[in-house]
Amino acid sequence: SEEQRRMVEFAIVANPDPADIAALPGLTWIHSLWAGVERLVLELGEKAPPIVRLKDPELSRVMAEAVLAWTYYLQRDMPAYRDNQQKALWQELDYRHPGEMTIGLLGLGALGVAAAERLLHAGFNVTGWSRSSKAIEGVETLTGDDGLQGLLEKSDILVCLVPLTDATRGLVNASRLAAMKNGAAIINFARGAVIVADHLIAALDSGKLSHAVLDVFEQEPLPAASPFWQHPKVAVLPHISAPTSRESSARIVAGNVRTWRETGTLPETVDMARGY
Ligand code: NAP
Repeated sequence: SEEQRRMVEFAIVANPDPADIAALPGLTWIHSLWAGVERLVLELGEKAPPIVRLKDPELSRVMAEAVLAWTYYLQRDMPAYRDNQQKALWQELDYRHPGEMTIGLLGLGALGVAAAERLLHAGFNVTGWSRSSKAIEGVETLTGDDGLQGLLEKSDILVCLVPLTDATRGLVNASRLAAMKNGAAIINFARGAVIVADHLIAALDSGKLSHAVLDVFEQEPLPAASPFWQHPKVAVLPHISAPTSRESSARIVAGNVRTWRETGTLPETVDMARGY
């Protein structure tokens, strides 16, 4: 009822219809169970109550595991061996040592840093890019347009882990793809719109890129008519690289709510102007 809606002080949400949030006039804050909050930021705008996004070590661990798993998929040439099997072709491909490969991470936040550590431990060279400068032992860290250019030029695999904001929408476009190594691959575990889909398909078709692992899309579920489904150089995943764990997220949210009730303080909230 209207009365009940007015009494709601805070909302715990996954990927809500922002209109449902806007219908709660007494909200003092929102706790997102998702790490990505671009839809809330875009649709609620400046008037929105503070948004706390999920920061969960278990989520970071699961994402780092996914990054390592799909990096191995590419490093060990699993797509090529699958194709060869279909042709009954017994053919050994050159082994690539992790130490001969550079993984470029777009985004060095909660998830990017965990992925970087996992990749380093597995023996890959890791270069990362973020908005503000970082120091992470063993990782080359870059910022700005020049930094991005440098990362693209040296990456054998580009891994997207930046939030979707005005600044990152369409970040990976034709000219950025053209700057990459011939035969490089892309893993997108961030948001679909960070990569321009048509430009990615063109880069795969021309042979510029060897493969793309895509977990996120501009429209989800991915429509049946999308060329990604049938593309021989694309692995389509249904947004499963890092699902929120019910147990750990419930513990973290409950802890944040308890602290707020006891002390009135919130964890770090989303910077609405920055968009993440
Ligand atoms: P985070 O802690 O906020 O980190 C974001 C990183 O991206 C930071 O290093 C940030 O730089 C960098 N960044 C943001 N805008 C940038 C820009 N314009 N230029 C350069 N770097 C920029 O976020 P997170 O927890 O790591 O999560 C990242 C994203 O992963 C989420 O937003 C979500 O979209 C996605 N995600 C996907 C799944 C899935 O299942 N596929 C699951 C969870 C999350 P600074 O360090 O300088 O701030």
